[in-house]
Order: sequence, then structure tokens, then C-alpha cells
Amino acid sequence: MSLVELRLRAATTAPIACKICDGPSALYGVTDLNRPCDIGLKAPALSGIPIYYRRCAACGFLFTDAFDDWEISEFKAHIYNDEYLAYDPEYETKRPSNNATWVTKIWSAHKANVRLLDYGGGNDLLCTTLRANGFKEAITYDPMVPEHALQPTGKFNLITCFETLEHLPDPIEGIGKIVEFVDDPGAVLYSTLIQPDDFNQKGMSWWYVGPRNGHISIFTKEALAAAWGKYGFRTASFNDNLHLAFRTLPESWRMQVK
Ligand SMILES: [Zn+2]
Repeated sequence: MSLVELRLRAATTAPIACKICDGPSALYGVTDLNRPCDIGLKAPALSGIPIYYRRCAACGFLFTDAFDDWEISEFKAHIYNDEYLAYDPEYETKRPSNNATWVTKIWSAHKANVRLLDYGGGNDLLCTTLRANGFKEAITYDPMVPEHALQPTGKFNLITCFETLEHLPDPIEGIGKIVEFVDDPGAVLYSTLIQPDDFNQKGMSWWYVGPRNGHISIFTKEALAAAWGKYGFRTASFNDNLHLAFRTLPESWRMQVK
């Protein structure tokens, strides 16, 4: 299939506005549509379809507009299809189990009072585990998964959102959807790997840049702060991958983030 047949946007040489901060974003580099994150896995044959990424001169956000005309059905057909699991082998079990262990460890003292929504939670394993661990309420919502696509009602004081932001073609809109569910006080525990300090040396060969995995929005700390800041949220990081965004942090949780 060709770029045109796939309804992918062709790259233009003129800078465009950063999707996060409107800063000038020139073309930065190019990779193949079939490039997965972990090229050590059974790497798929190259497609011959170039996906150009841009980088914002102001906030460092790395993104592509190639998929900006796609509907959800096209993401499902070409990215989140039957072959997707081969390129994201931790999606089904390992990642949700690890995340459940983490959330249980951090929020165990509050589990009777936490109303938790796992946003983009895929198969519900995270929430099933949390409920088994004594969390009063843990609900999975994932617009991409039919069994969990029913929009939940009300607000939640803890939203978890693992490995989702890097998949969003419009991160500001996507974060806006998450924010709608956050109670105040309340917080969003989310993961997305930010660019390493030596990103300029690694460039497009950095493993996390992978269109086949749907990794199309690659953040910096500055880009995360700007994106959440649009909704009056601050964001703090536990490490390069795990972050907490909030307007007002519940009083009793304050000892846990510095
Ligand atoms: Zn920017």
C-alpha cells in the first residue's frame, strides 16, 4: 500500500506548530512505518512507507503528523491489529501485573477510599488485580477495546494511565479527556518515557520511537509540563517513565511525592 492509499499525510518541509506548545517544529528525522520499538524482536519487513517526525524547537516534543487524518478504525486496522501483540509482548500480562504491584504498594493505605479509573487500560488485568488486592473501586476504560469502551460516570480521585500518551495523535485533546474524569483533589498516575539527555546523539534510532508500536508522540519534561499545564495541572516525575499530574493532591497522599 502507498502513503496515499493508507491516508497518511505526506511530510512538508516547512515547520509546523508543535502539537503541545505551538513552537516551530521542523522535520527532524524519518523512519519506516513498520519500525517497532524493540527491533530485537522478530522485526517485520520494512514497508517502504516513510514516517517523518518533527521536533519542537521550544519544548523538544517529537511527533509526527502523518497519522493526523486517521480515524480510530484505521489505527485498529494498521497498528492495533492482530500482529500488534508481537511488537508489544508486555501488553497483555507483564506490564499490567507490574503496574498493579506498584499501585498497590504506593496506595495500599488508601485503598478503601480510592476511586480508581484505569484509562487506556486494555484488558482489565490491572483493575482485576487491584480489586483482588482490596481496592474498593477500580474500573477500566479503554475506547480502543470494545469490552471496556463504555464511558464511566462521575469523577475519580486516582486515574492511572500507563503507556498511553505516546500513542496519542492529539495529546492535548487526549489529556483533556483524561482530565474530565479527575476529581479535585485527585491525581493521574501515568507513564510515558521521556527523551533521554543524550537524545540528540540517539535521534531517530532511540528505541522508543516506533510507529509500528503506535509511538507517535515522544515527550520531554518540558512538553509534559506544557501539556498538563493547559488544564491547570502540575506534573512531577518519579523517574523518566512514571509521573503524577494533579491540580490538588489529596492531603493524605502528600508524603509520597516530593
Ligand atoms: Zn513544543
